[in-house]
Amino acid sequence: MPDKTVGEALREAAERLSASSDTARLDAEVLMAHALATSRSSLLLNRMRDPVPEIFAALVDRRMEHEPVAYITGSQEFFGLPLAVGPDVLIPRGDSEVLVEAALAARPAARKVLDCGTGSGALLLAVLANLPDARGVGIDSSPGALAVAQGNAAALGLGNRACMIPADWHVPGWTAALDGPFDLILANPPYVETTVRLERSVAAYEPASALYSGELGLDDYRALIPQLPAILAPGGAALVEIGHEQAEAVAAIGASCGLSSRLHRDLGYRPRVLEFS
Ligand code: GLN
Repeated sequence: MPDKTVGEALREAAERLSASSDTARLDAEVLMAHALATSRSSLLLNRMRDPVPEIFAALVDRRMEHEPVAYITGSQEFFGLPLAVGPDVLIPRGDSEVLVEAALAARPAARKVLDCGTGSGALLLAVLANLPDARGVGIDSSPGALAVAQGNAAALGLGNRACMIPADWHVPGWTAALDGPFDLILANPPYVETTVRLERSVAAYEPASALYSGELGLDDYRALIPQLPAILAPGGAALVEIGHEQAEAVAAIGASCGLSSRLHRDLGYRPRVLEFS
């Protein structure tokens, strides 16, 4: 009996994966492209009659256990950039691209950028890739995340303009190590209510420390936002991602320390980013 082709294996895998994923066919294609070390478009155009690589079945098994595709392949595209990701970092979401767009539009001449809770480095690196004269610092309290962010900066040729530093805004004096003030401050802090049950692929695999922030999901905003005016350059802007029901509460935290805010919405037209100045 001839070996199964890629096309046949994709059909079977998509059917199996539909039990545990809403994006079963897409997942199967991304995993197959990864197994063949090719792009998804080249897979679909040129490789459908190839024999199936042996590793493919094991990748599908991992996805059956709800592991995110990005952790299985070790990469996620964000704002057109290929980023390495792993269990130490939140997988960059498409909705966070709104923050990058808003930052680039708000301060197109920014020279110094700070990313608070940089994780994979996604926000900082996307902004720096589009502002050739800017330099930036990414901070994170997780050493594992800083290693991932540093690796991404180097892989994207941004290592000479991006510096990743351990710091935690819950610890007094954390800004001392930073060479502020900054024209642009970016932040996608944890903001999920601790009572929320996230879907299994998120809850079982992504770092809880990057997601949960107290009963109302506001603890990190309360700790971080009041410290921003001291490190924001005159005329600078701070862009902070929010949960779609948190706009009012987070704007109020900013207002209480003299920051005015402007709301930006995500691809589903939900509130997603507050721009403070
Ligand atoms: N948008 C993320 C999620 O719920 C939450 C990100 C965060 O807490 N910063 O999947």
